[in-house]
Amino acid sequence: MLDLNQETVIQEIARRKAKRVLLQVPEGLRPSAFALSRELEKRTSSEIIISADPCYGSCDLALNEASLLDADLIVHFGHSGTLTNKCLFIEARSSLDVGAAVEKAVAKLSREKAIGLASVIQHIGELEKAKKILERSGKTVLIGRHEGELKYDGQILGCRFETVKSISPEVDAFVVLAGGDFHGIGVRIATGKRTIVCDPYQNQARDVEDLARRFLRTRYAAVDSFREAKRVGVLIGLKTGQFQPTKAHEIRGLLESKGRECALLALREIDPVVLENFSDIEGFVNTGCPRIALDDQERFRRPVLNPEEVMIALGTKRWEEYAKEDSPSKGA
Ligand code: SF4
Repeated sequence: MLDLNQETVIQEIARRKAKRVLLQVPEGLRPSAFALSRELEKRTSSEIIISADPCYGSCDLALNEASLLDADLIVHFGHSGTLTNKCLFIEARSSLDVGAAVEKAVAKLSREKAIGLASVIQHIGELEKAKKILERSGKTVLIGRHEGELKYDGQILGCRFETVKSISPEVDAFVVLAGGDFHGIGVRIATGKRTIVCDPYQNQARDVEDLARRFLRTRYAAVDSFREAKRVGVLIGLKTGQFQPTKAHEIRGLLESKGRECALLALREIDPVVLENFSDIEGFVNTGCPRIALDDQERFRRPVLNPEEVMIALGTKRWEEYAKEDSPSKGA
């Protein structure tokens, strides 16, 4: 279902004469990781090591781990990025057909004429097909141009929505090709426009309006609760593309100027269990992956806000401006 481009990987390992290779594989591809490593070891002269740590994006390159393991090459699956002297990105495009899901979206979009189209990396090759289906049903379709960390027109990441924001004023609604609802909710919040997720795994088209409203309600509650926090932990994410010490110091300065006491905490995985034992801290600010606190918000017992939510809590930013900027991560 997902194309792991084994031949490309084998050629690149051979071209570099790599003796040891570290594989980074996202959760969805882990059931095939053992077979993949066996195949690569059989067909190359490399030792293959699978990184078993979580990996959610190309913002999380295992550079330190590769250096520790003396690996010549990292092969990073499931996310987009540019080939470097240390890392080969394999996007793992899906072969699933989005046609049926997009047809279902058309039925939900009878009132909207201009449609913005976006996709996660796995289905980016299906954008043109989705565009044609929408156009056949009389829609005008726009796809935002890529820039910065985004490699393809129409591509979105969990923290980067430039391709939809740039066309948002010209469209009535968005259609997002993705397996889950997270990216669609992100598009809805970043643009304020009605958003339908076309999920080729389930062959479904889902309007994420209710989920987005529920998501925002929980963020309002987290911001409210954070306003009571006098002792705040400012989290510095240690993953390569999420490392933002300057942002952490800025937000600490802002909090202290408003009478809060702060401590800086550095960590790789921002996890409720890890934060739980810091029981004298009443609230956290996460300067790493913004997705963690948003995706897992119900699992954190104390509020974990992103920097812009802290600014809202402190009155230096308005809710109306929420999610109008993108995280500077080197994303997925
Ligand atoms: S920082 Fe952005 S790209 Fe990286 S895992 Fe988080 S949401 Fe995805």
